[in-house]
Amino acid sequence: MYDLFDVVFGTYVSSKVAGISALQASTDQRLTSSTERLTALEHKYERMHIVMVALWGLLKEHTSLTDADLKRFVANVEASEAQNRGAAGTMACPHCSRTVRKSATRCPWCGGAITTGDAFQGT
Ligand SMILES: [Zn+2]
Repeated sequence: MYDLFDVVFGTYVSSKVAGISALQASTDQRLTSSTERLTALEHKYERMHIVMVALWGLLKEHTSLTDADLKRFVANVEASEAQNRGAAGTMACPHCSRTVRKSATRCPWCGGAITTGDAFQGT
């Protein structure tokens, strides 16, 4: 025989189960969205890698540039970025202290997570 406590408790449990189900559905949707975004980014990265390799091959074929030249130019970019530290849109990496864009979520130099980065700041 049901009493008032059973009815109230049953209603309470039902509402909690419904809330958990809604939360689970929301979490599943966010995970799917994040997975899809990661897959799209990985695809873009692979395409950019192919283009970069092709461009570098084209440059080497039509110029006297070497891999050492490329490494030197990368070092020049790093030095230039360091000189621009404090400029709008830049910040120091919390891991390696090199200059990174505020929009970065990962440091391009050390790979450390930039949790203070804002995708809508800097360029
Ligand atoms: Zn770093």
